[in-house]
Amino acid sequence: MPGFEVFGEEEKKEINDVLETGVLFRYEFGAQRKGVFKVREFEQKFAAYCGSGHGQAVTSGSTALKVAMVAMGISPGDEVITQGFTFVATWEAILEVGAIPVFTEVDETLNMDPDDLKKKITEKTKLIIPVHMLGAPARMHEIMAIADGANIPVLEDTAQAPGASLDGRVLGSFGRCGTFSFDSVKTITTGEGGMIITDDAELWRSMSEYHDHGHDHAVNPGGRGGEGRRFVGFNYRMMELQGAMGLAQLAKLDAIVASHKKNKTSLKTALAEIPGVSFRKILDEEGDSASFLGFFLETGEAAAKVNAILAENGAGAIAFAQNTWHFYPAWEHLLGAKSLCTSGWPFSSHGGKRRVVYDADALPQSAALMDRLLVYPIPVILADDRLAEMVAAINKAAAY
Ligand SMILES: *Cc1c(COP(=O)(O)O)cnc(C)c1O
Repeated sequence: MPGFEVFGEEEKKEINDVLETGVLFRYEFGAQRKGVFKVREFEQKFAAYCGSGHGQAVTSGSTALKVAMVAMGISPGDEVITQGFTFVATWEAILEVGAIPVFTEVDETLNMDPDDLKKKITEKTKLIIPVHMLGAPARMHEIMAIADGANIPVLEDTAQAPGASLDGRVLGSFGRCGTFSFDSVKTITTGEGGMIITDDAELWRSMSEYHDHGHDHAVNPGGRGGEGRRFVGFNYRMMELQGAMGLAQLAKLDAIVASHKKNKTSLKTALAEIPGVSFRKILDEEGDSASFLGFFLETGEAAAKVNAILAENGAGAIAFAQNTWHFYPAWEHLLGAKSLCTSGWPFSSHGGKRRVVYDADALPQSAALMDRLLVYPIPVILADDRLAEMVAAINKAAAY
């Protein structure tokens, strides 16, 4: 699953190119940088890989979400719909721009349930963020049809699914833009880092300028300092060492996915022997990045029992019902409206009036799925003896 498993000479070479110029900054230092623009090159290659017109590198997957939303004009009071099974960053970013997160159920794809999406749209909905959780696609055809019908843009949070596609189209390229994360545990990594892809040149220009203190990139894209500003910005710039890492890692992405697929198949074959096991619905096996393997038992009790046996034998799976970072009822700070801001913003208005109230029991369909769900992260490199150990544990669970 994480790109750090395959660090090698390629990363060192790219990093070395940067160290030789001594320029760590993506802009300026014209002659000294000797034509080395790693971040810019990473943006171009990443966008091309996705079949998208433009790439905007930023400091993280979280800031990618924020920068994209700001550039799309998402504002305080707007409602933004996402799913209740995601990493906290998705809704943190929505709160960060002052908008109100509205959560949908997930279905057996473990991604946004289009039927529930329809029910959650109101006249205040300004954006829909499906999240391609655990390496595999959301129901993008249905989601895009609903969003287009309601004239609402879509931003795909693709942090967990670089290298995945649906019916031949790379994830992140269905909506108006798609965001990615390259944090230390993602499929490809730059340590910290993120990317936004879009086909919309005007939107890209806004993202590019916003993430760079508002420098007008159209007037003076090469040099610095003489240009004006169209609007207030902030600093979410990626540095050259990260761009260098990104280039080396991107070149390995297809091989990483191929390894995932092989390892996932081995584990899936073994798991199929456990009585009552069924698998997460994958809409496009070909397009699955295979970074995770999700499986269900018939009841929560059975899932707990099976996982106890797996854990005792050195191959415990993730139980998202117990994981506090990815599922709605476990977010006590969201439910309890906990903020450092003295007015209670963003959960309360600046006058102190509560803007949103969340109910831990609001997503019963998702909760029922999480209860029965177990997940294996799929390593890129799975040694024969470790695979044998996992299969032995799975066989014990199959005999329970
Ligand atoms: C990791 C992740 C993010 C945030 O990425 P960072 O680079 O860690 O900020 C956003 N959304 C999802 C679904 C993620 O898994």
